[in-house]
Amino acid sequence: MKVLLVRPPRIKQAITLGEFMYSEPIGLEIIYSMLESQHQVEILDMMAEQVDIVDKLIEYKPQVVGITTLCIDVPMVIELAKKVKAHNPNIVTIIGGTQTFLNPQGFFTDVVDHVMEFTTSENLTKLLQYLEKNNRAPDINDKVPMIDGIRSRSNEFQSTRKLGRNEYIHPNRKSTRKYRHNYSYFGYKQSAIMATAQGCSKVCRFCLRWRIEGHVEEYFPMDFVIEEIKDIDESTIMIIDNDFLHNGKRILELCERLEQEHIQKSFICYASVQSILQNKEAVRRFQNNGLKAVLVGYETFKNEELATYQKKSTMEENLLASKFLKSIKLDVWASFMIHPNWDSKDFKAFRKYIKQLSPETISLSPLTPFPNLPLYQEYQDRLLYDKDDFEKWSFGQVIIKPSKMSINRYYYELLKTNIYVNTSIRNVVYMIRKFGLLTLFRLLKGSSKLFVRYVKLMLASGDIQKGKGHIFILSGYSGAGKNTIINHINKNNCSLEYIPSVTTRAIRPEESQGNPYYFISEKEFHERVANNSFIEYEEIHGNYYGTIKSIYEQKLSNGCNIIKDIDVNGALKFRQVFGQQVTLLFIQPSDISVLIERLKKRGDNAKDIKTRMNRIEYESQQKPHFDYIITNDNIDEAIEKVLTIIDNVLDNK
Ligand code: SF4
Repeated sequence: MKVLLVRPPRIKQAITLGEFMYSEPIGLEIIYSMLESQHQVEILDMMAEQVDIVDKLIEYKPQVVGITTLCIDVPMVIELAKKVKAHNPNIVTIIGGTQTFLNPQGFFTDVVDHVMEFTTSENLTKLLQYLEKNNRAPDINDKVPMIDGIRSRSNEFQSTRKLGRNEYIHPNRKSTRKYRHNYSYFGYKQSAIMATAQGCSKVCRFCLRWRIEGHVEEYFPMDFVIEEIKDIDESTIMIIDNDFLHNGKRILELCERLEQEHIQKSFICYASVQSILQNKEAVRRFQNNGLKAVLVGYETFKNEELATYQKKSTMEENLLASKFLKSIKLDVWASFMIHPNWDSKDFKAFRKYIKQLSPETISLSPLTPFPNLPLYQEYQDRLLYDKDDFEKWSFGQVIIKPSKMSINRYYYELLKTNIYVNTSIRNVVYMIRKFGLLTLFRLLKGSSKLFVRYVKLMLASGDIQKGKGHIFILSGYSGAGKNTIINHINKNNCSLEYIPSVTTRAIRPEESQGNPYYFISEKEFHERVANNSFIEYEEIHGNYYGTIKSIYEQKLSNGCNIIKDIDVNGALKFRQVFGQQVTLLFIQPSDISVLIERLKKRGDNAKDIKTRMNRIEYESQQKPHFDYIITNDNIDEAIEKVLTIIDNVLDNK
């Protein structure tokens, strides 16, 4: 069969390390090897070649199109599959890669025929044999055989027994010959990537790799490894094992073989601090055999965070590992995860710690709790994006709402730290000495794209300009005390403005325009509804109540800070409209039965009480969407708590 294997283009708006680490599509090269003896195969690397997939389909006329996917490119992959099917519905579309293992459901659409949860010579051969016999895309009525690891549309994407994981056989690097001049690893252009093992026994809590590959290292035979190294044309090889320096004996064995066979290559690898410190002799010998740089995931500068990540090292050991690598003249490329609970002081202390570590380069990414990780449950209430908003989950994007500063401020600190650590004189001199001016310019171009992206995200987070205001919404069960709190704050805090809602109900003798509402006619109200003027509105006993968006927008742009009480649904609407320019506070008593008792005493009938209880239950379910829960058992203390939150938020703006 004629098979086209596609790596999708880069997602422009995503923050990735693509500008710095641009590696070959090794998964597709492996599949190429699996298929080449039986089929005609070609790889289209759309990251390297800007081509419309339809033009390629017209030129190559494939019967099967296989598309690989990472974590963030699901919509792009589906879009490509859509184009393939629109061009010719008989072309079979197969999707594979990291994301189909983690989230196969994301691809269950009628433009995808098969989703590979894992790919081996065996399951792929079986599928292609079936397709060849059928000679067309399977129809919904066709009985496609159930094959391990493959979910097929004509079987309603039913799951098969999951017996395996991606197989590693020698990738055919000739298949990407025309693209290879693009592939680089940081300053090392051109470079190849290869694996010598799968799995990782360090089982860090935030890591997907060991969950995909297994929690023990499974080594490929040394002959197999040497054969692959010899087959690589590029002088630099990035070894993509999760923790290559894990096994000292094996590194020594590799060195012996490199020496025996007079193989001279430059190597880069990932390693954990623990492995570096445990295998110093082996690392030294490997350095003599071409090891140039080590990518170390230090992750953080706080021991308590290292412990919660289940990293097996301390910040003191991080410093020791760094010192050792430097003593044997190895470059250290450090990576860190920025915790969402950091405040400005933490960022400052972090920059100081980096100075001590003095790595050659640093990559920083905010902690990302991917949906398949236990961290996801932990931070579910603070996620800024839905898990299906795939493109947002890119490296570098803030996913968890920071607890000690605004998102805008958090991006600012990230950007500042990035600039501070990566553009110091020391780093620039290193780049020029090591890779030359041209590479420096290429990487600076990449960095500037990253910085522009961060600035855009800061702007998008809503409150970058000085003078922009903030809204504090108090919500919760009625009778929990939010009005008392607001009245107190309004009387005593003239820096917060209260904006009355509008209503169509008749004005009462003791009331005036703007106190406690703006009174408008029903006609005007409906016109405003038609013009989408309201953040939220509702009808109560035949009268309409609403909050007008433009008033808030104007006040915010004038730098006013606003306080408002509103029901739970209204509060969530405010969040929808103004995003992180709103802080949501939920006011509750410690014992809900007090509220019920109050209703009974008030003489409410059983039906009303039942309605109120249902409402309370609904409101309780919405609590996770709120930024703060304030328990009001003592009104003075509750007021104090609210004022402290307001001060903190405004201080960190
Ligand atoms: S050492 Fe690296 S690959 Fe291994 S579990 Fe930890 S983060 Fe993952």
